[in-house]
Amino acid sequence: MTAEPETTESGLASLRCWCCGAEFAEVSLVHLGARPEVTICLDCARFLHRRALARRDEHRWTPMGAVRGGVQRVRDWVIENGWHQRGPLGAFLRRIDRFLP
Ligand SMILES: [Zn+2]
Repeated sequence: MTAEPETTESGLASLRCWCCGAEFAEVSLVHLGARPEVTICLDCARFLHRRALARRDEHRWTPMGAVRGGVQRVRDWVIENGWHQRGPLGAFLRRIDRFLP
């Protein structure tokens, strides 16, 4: 599978994120180093970064890893209850999530 650019209604080229499948402009994507044809959107890149840190934290305890684990448990709880999709509260929670480890 290759990431062939598609043209949007505005005439700008867009590419599909290999993680979530949504289309984005080139400026909103990052490429993998050894496989530059693979594109990942910035939100999925953040998600993958968090997953990588969580995997590392599983193997070695650190104080920051414990904080990240606690934040992730709260994040999972919020998502389980659907609070991230509740109007202004959801917008607030999604906004502060950008700044959390
Ligand atoms: Zn994505």
